[in-house]
Amino acid sequence: MEKLLAGQIALVTGASSGIGYGVAKALADAGASVVLNYHSHAESAQKLADEITRSGGAAIAVKADVSSPADIDAMFDACVARFGTVDIVVANSGLQKDSAFADMTLDDWQIVLATNLTGQFLTAQAAVKEFRRRGSRPVSKALGKIICMSSVHEVIPWAGHVNYTASKGGVQMFMKSLAQEVAPERIRVNSIAPGAIRTRINHDAWDTSDAQRKLLQLIPYGRVGEVEDIGKAAVWLASDESDYVVGTTLFVDGGMTLYPGFVGNG
Ligand code: NAD
Repeated sequence: MEKLLAGQIALVTGASSGIGYGVAKALADAGASVVLNYHSHAESAQKLADEITRSGGAAIAVKADVSSPADIDAMFDACVARFGTVDIVVANSGLQKDSAFADMTLDDWQIVLATNLTGQFLTAQAAVKEFRRRGSRPVSKALGKIICMSSVHEVIPWAGHVNYTASKGGVQMFMKSLAQEVAPERIRVNSIAPGAIRTRINHDAWDTSDAQRKLLQLIPYGRVGEVEDIGKAAVWLASDESDYVVGTTLFVDGGMTLYPGFVGNG
């Protein structure tokens, strides 16, 4: 059977760990050739690239800081040099620098915005330029697909994390405005908003049984998410199966955005 993303080229930022790693693996399993961006942990990105190559796919690992325009240009150049173009771009890189509001340093505000929001801007801008440069390809109905990795915190406020929520709230309107602007060119821009996914970014929320019990109170579906849950959503959003999905945030959160605190309360 033909794989859903056969013949397509995907680039995933922050692919050396967590959700980016899971998404890159899922896209490769669906037949895409993959550029794995990493910022730290070259060995983990290279290990995944080797694994994909050994199982008959194609992948390269490329270092870049998504907040650096020069790094973004070099990363897209490396992608085009190796694979000719790109069809699917997943702007996934992100980080948290948490603290109570009055104690938050300007550095911690700026690095989170630079990575989580400016990084999405630079990645998506380079993607749009590349889609336009190479024009239509027979591998997809769309000229190109961009997936922004957002968060349930694009809509759920989160005390102690104002830099992170500001960045993800920003991603929501960034994604929608960009989607509106480029949809006439058949470029589809959408977001995935994960709930609590088991990765290192949030390990203190699930790595003790007490923390996990508290976390599960926020998840109606009763389990913590896994990176594979996001990988499957990304494959669908990147494929022609979702060809009419434009400017939407797909919440993959076990119901976290259903406000479970209201169950039985009033
Ligand atoms: P993670 O820490 O494993 O992954 C984040 C990745 O971003 C890492 O690979 C890191 O190296 C990379 N990164 C950080 N700064 C970078 C930079 N300047 N340039 C390039 N890459 C950089 O955590 P994760 O949970 O896999 O997070 C991935 C994305 O998913 C983030 O955008 C995060 O906000 C989002 N998210 C995660 C969860 C969750 O529960 N894990 C929930 C909602 C949203």
